[in-house]
Amino acid sequence: MLVELHTHLYGGLALEDLEWLAARNEPRWPIFIESYRRAYNSEPNISGLFEGTAESRQRLAATYYFLRPGNFAAFQCAFDLVIALSRTDPEELLEITRRVVGRQESAYAEYRMLLSPRETHESFREKLIALCQGLELASKITGRDARLAMSLPRDPATGRELYRVLRECQAAKRIVQDRLVAIDFCAIEEGYRPRDKASLFDEIISDNRKRPEQALAILYHVGESFEDKSLESAARWVVEAARLGAHRLGHCVALGVPPEFYLGTTRRELACERLDQIDFELREAAQLARAGYDIDRAALEKEAQELSATDPGRSIDVHYDSARIGRARAFQDWAMQAVRETGAIIESCPSSNLRIAGLGSPDWHPLARFLEAELPTVIGADDPGILATGLEAELEMVAGWRGVGREQVARMKARALECTSPALTGRQ
Ligand SMILES: [Zn+2]
Repeated sequence: MLVELHTHLYGGLALEDLEWLAARNEPRWPIFIESYRRAYNSEPNISGLFEGTAESRQRLAATYYFLRPGNFAAFQCAFDLVIALSRTDPEELLEITRRVVGRQESAYAEYRMLLSPRETHESFREKLIALCQGLELASKITGRDARLAMSLPRDPATGRELYRVLRECQAAKRIVQDRLVAIDFCAIEEGYRPRDKASLFDEIISDNRKRPEQALAILYHVGESFEDKSLESAARWVVEAARLGAHRLGHCVALGVPPEFYLGTTRRELACERLDQIDFELREAAQLARAGYDIDRAALEKEAQELSATDPGRSIDVHYDSARIGRARAFQDWAMQAVRETGAIIESCPSSNLRIAGLGSPDWHPLARFLEAELPTVIGADDPGILATGLEAELEMVAGWRGVGREQVARMKARALECTSPALTGRQ
């Protein structure tokens, strides 16, 4: 039995769904055009994209599908095409859930959905209910189980506000109680430290204890895109999210990407992030040393003192020479064990990481290292529409990877059954 635990509802649209949206709503082109400029520093050709001819469909496919290694901005551009076309009104949500669940390969799937942070409480409530109705109806028609993992904005204040609306709605509506099984945090990760969610995570965990029959799992995209920090800091973010109580962690590329991927490169890190890393290494020094990652306490304290005297928003260079690569690997090895101790599940999304995280080759993908470190891992298709993939295709692909193989794929498929949100929160 197949179980899909990492997929986004609007990342699962097919070309005909885009055409349906475009026929229904006047596209909000500025959203896509600005995103395209940010990603590619040039102008997109949008004229006649929805004429319905073979030529225009080919161009739509070329604009929409994200098939080659790139970066998060380039992926966001493809997603912004979807956003430009959609209105997420209740009628649209019902139709989109029907279409996406209609293509669902797995017997059970949890769909993530991020609404605009500008929704009013009223419209958020209305759309949440429509999503749950759509998933319930589509489940009945297809005989497949489709559940909702509502994505909340990463900004802690807005996230908390909408979380409370979500809970009110859950208490008031049976359909929300049934379909809503998790809370997710996704989209741009840079600038949103996991630790700033500590009190929100505590609130969710405490609410789960009070009402176990309505418990919501915490799903957290982390270590996927980390352009503003060192590899080690990004791996630390994964540890922090796991220790805060996230049930499942999305991607975690930084935790296990072979550090040689960065050999000879110079990354930039904010001074405030470096200070956080120094503080962390000083606190965890004994544990880190046991794992073969020794720190020079006096040197770190001196560096912290110097950094504290400068602008925290300043960027510093981090050069990855072979000595730094060796240390980064030791830090990751420790971090993987630290995550393992929390019991958090890793959701690995192979095609997504090869392309959105720009890894390019399976040799750079962290999956084999996750399995070697015995981290509980499941596979997700992430955005099967944009990435033109599916869960079965992803599982088939990694079965052929060095360090993975069919036996591990069978194990990951079996594990997914035990790692649904209701199973992890004890709702079942
Ligand atoms: Zn995702």
